[in-house]
Amino acid sequence: GGVKVGEINPNTMESKLVKGLYFAGEVIDVDAYTGGFNLQIAWATGRAAGFAAAKRDE
Ligand SMILES: Cc1cc2nc3c(=O)[nH]c(=O)nc-3n(C[C@H](O)[C@H](O)[C@H](O)COP(=O)(O)OP(=O)(O)OC[C@H]3O[C@@H](n4cnc5c(N)ncnc54)[C@H](O)[C@@H]3O)c2cc1C
Repeated sequence: GGVKVGEINPNTMESKLVKGLYFAGEVIDVDAYTGGFNLQIAWATGRAAGFAAAKRDE
């Protein structure tokens, strides 16, 4: 469960509905097979969201 991927910009992890709101990890509506893929999702989306949020002007 969580926020629909269609409502998130995949390059920045920013919400398409609320500017300045970024998502990462478990709050996103994705799941994966066990074996480390959920952790990879958390790390990859967290990195993307963090960099995008840091570059934001406002
Ligand atoms: C028992 C178990 C085994 C797992 N095994 C695997 C595995 O083998 N491989 C794999 O890939 N994935 C595994 N997972 C899934 C993986 O752990 C998660 O997908 C990943 O940790 C999610 O990271 P996250 O940062 O999104 O969320 P979380 O790791 O849950 O981090 C959220 C953080 O936010 C904090 N928080 C919550 N509310 C607030 C608040 N109001 N204010 C401030 N902080 C708050 C919490 O304390 C927590 O530290 C497992 C999960 C569980 C429960």
